[in-house]
Amino acid sequence: MSNQLEIKNLTANIGDKPILKDFNLTIPKGEVHALMGPNGTGKSTLAKVIAGHEDYEVTSGEILVDGENILGMEPDEISHAGVFLAFQYPMEIPGVSIANFIRAALQARMEEGETFDAPAYYRELYEKMDLLQMDRKFTSRSLNEGFSGGEKKRCEILQMSMLEPTYCIMDETDSGLDIDALKVVSNGVNLMRGEDRGILVITHYQRLLEYIVPDQVHVMWDGAIVQSGDKELAIELEAKGYEWVKNELATAGA
Ligand code: ADP
Ligand code: MG
Repeated sequence: MSNQLEIKNLTANIGDKPILKDFNLTIPKGEVHALMGPNGTGKSTLAKVIAGHEDYEVTSGEILVDGENILGMEPDEISHAGVFLAFQYPMEIPGVSIANFIRAALQARMEEGETFDAPAYYRELYEKMDLLQMDRKFTSRSLNEGFSGGEKKRCEILQMSMLEPTYCIMDETDSGLDIDALKVVSNGVNLMRGEDRGILVITHYQRLLEYIVPDQVHVMWDGAIVQSGDKELAIELEAKGYEWVKNELATAGA
């Protein structure tokens, strides 16, 4: 099938330490999947490996974007292939404004001979900033420099909504958000839901999933998905804690 993001038998190390262990996940277009799990289980590693981060050594597996293997591609090529990663800890880039950063990203993927329509760009940028309740003064501020946690996350969603990727991966977009910011950010994500887009929401807590209701929930443990279900699984997990999954695995003899 080509209309999906497919992660197949992915094994990846940092140095000699295996982090992802035969990891499998498929996200079809039109669906939102949540990936949950305790800290240190490999969620951010997965996101970074998909985005082509150079620190990780992939020893086996495939990552297929609409049928095309993106493993081994450079991060900008992966972005061109339609994958966007919103980082758990967004980088600060002093001296580069948000407006120029997003503009450069859009221009980088223009065809030869195409011209950039600046007025249309700013119209759209301001529209989306309004939706995310971001002050317009943010357009001229250096990317993420001195931003609060909530401001950084809004900025990530702004980039995502301007770049309109086919597959979005959001790594703990909820961390550091108060309830109002959480609602705004969730609203931004919900507006991006659609038939032509697959979304993976990585989160430690169930709270975000009250606002972004996933089609499927997966629980990750020690580098692999150990359980999948619908949104009820997230609620059960919140009530029983991750120890419950561990105990279930132990009784299953895993
Ligand atoms: P999660 O996002 O689920 O909390 P991570 O993917 O961040 O988990 O981390 C998984 C494991 O990999 C942890 O044991 C962590 O210490 C280790 N790890 C992650 N990044 C690095 C790194 N750059 N160098 C060494 N170990 C790392
Ligand atoms: Mg993480």
